[in-house]
Amino acid sequence: MFELAQPSIAVAGGEDRFPVRRIYCIGRNYGAHAREMGHDPDREPPFWFAKPADAIVPSGSVIDYPPRTENLHHEIELVVAIGKAGADVAVGDALEHVYGYAVGIDLTRRDLQKEAKSQGRPWVTAKGFDQSAPVSALHTVEDVGHPASGRIWLSVNGEIRQQGDLNELIWSVAEAIAELSTLFALSPGDLIFTGTPAGVGAVVAGDQITGGIDGIDEIKITII
Ligand code: MN
Repeated sequence: MFELAQPSIAVAGGEDRFPVRRIYCIGRNYGAHAREMGHDPDREPPFWFAKPADAIVPSGSVIDYPPRTENLHHEIELVVAIGKAGADVAVGDALEHVYGYAVGIDLTRRDLQKEAKSQGRPWVTAKGFDQSAPVSALHTVEDVGHPASGRIWLSVNGEIRQQGDLNELIWSVAEAIAELSTLFALSPGDLIFTGTPAGVGAVVAGDQITGGIDGIDEIKITII
């Protein structure tokens, strides 16, 4: 009838591509960001939402400012790529399921999210829109190991907006995988956006967004 493209991410250092099955995202996984959004990370644990796989766009992309928002926010995040299936994975075994790591930006229609929160509605229009998941090339565990610390940052037009360290994650990568695997059977091709540090804010057409995580990669996108 027609053919659909398989969303995928380039694997750094070769011609391979990592096919993307699902994108899971963690909300409020850094204490300082939870507090800037008006929540107490000591009382409310992180939680899950999702984006469609075809929301992926590569680093270097020029992205149209999305419709139906006047408050598009950037969230820089460590992205975990799952390479091995599993359910009810123990924390101690969780890192065996990781294929590699990338740098992602969880683009968010903050105004629609605020409305959804106040009405008790889902976040799909706030988080799961077209081109809402820019991701860098994927770096294999063989190349970058399992980073447990390292600076994570984002700048807009050369000005630093977000800064944090991977060692501030409330749910570590292993804990996130274990927790997620109690809710969904994990499969190769799944991605996990692990949450953003403090400093989220708005971008407008014409802005250049750059971000990175020490020891992994950088990402750059332009909004038009
Ligand atoms: Mn996020």
